[in-house]
Amino acid sequence: MTDVHYFTFSPFAENSYILSDESKDCIIIDPGCYTDAERITLKNYISDKGLNPVRLINTHCHIDHVFGNRFISETYNLPLEIHEGEIPVLESLAMVAQMYGIPDVQQSPDPDPDKFIREGDVIEFGNSKLEVLFTPGHSPASVSFYNREDKFLIGGDVLFEGSIGRTDLPGGDYDTLMQSIRDKFMPLPDEVTVYSGHGNPTTIGRERRSNQFILSYSS
Ligand SMILES: [Zn+2]
Ligand SMILES: [Zn+2]
Repeated sequence: MTDVHYFTFSPFAENSYILSDESKDCIIIDPGCYTDAERITLKNYISDKGLNPVRLINTHCHIDHVFGNRFISETYNLPLEIHEGEIPVLESLAMVAQMYGIPDVQQSPDPDPDKFIREGDVIEFGNSKLEVLFTPGHSPASVSFYNREDKFLIGGDVLFEGSIGRTDLPGGDYDTLMQSIRDKFMPLPDEVTVYSGHGNPTTIGRERRSNQFILSYSS
């Protein structure tokens, strides 16, 4: 059974995920820890539970999802794993930080080219398996992670409770995003919990029935 835990970090209120199971291996997805206190919170959770971090992964590389990449990579000696198409987003990090007027942003390590994540890959750790879904539109190469056995989805900023990801940032596109939701998320069972990059968890069924962006999209 895969346990999903998240902390909401930084002025962007970004959800940083730690997935673990009975093996005690864990993976860290989108570490958004920005302050020393947040980095300590994340580290303490891992040590208090006796977890062994084995992978560092980003759903996409917007600034709020990568604040903690360097800290996690250096603390646990882990390479960064992303979709290759997110490299331009990662490379614009310093510029974006300056644009938002955010000081002291730790530069992310470069991703490991031997570990680029692709549609159809299976992310394995401990006894857990996550299927990779390619879900662009909010960013050029967002990926989502589906745990079929425990029925949850780590969806990044693709779909939120009652809303969808913004599409006005570089590489974003509304139709592409809606098609990702329609073609990759909506075929999943109603009971699948969606853990988003911001806000509360929701379910596929709830969004299918009540999300106005989904209900009104026709193309
Ligand atoms: Zn984003
Ligand atoms: Zn975000």
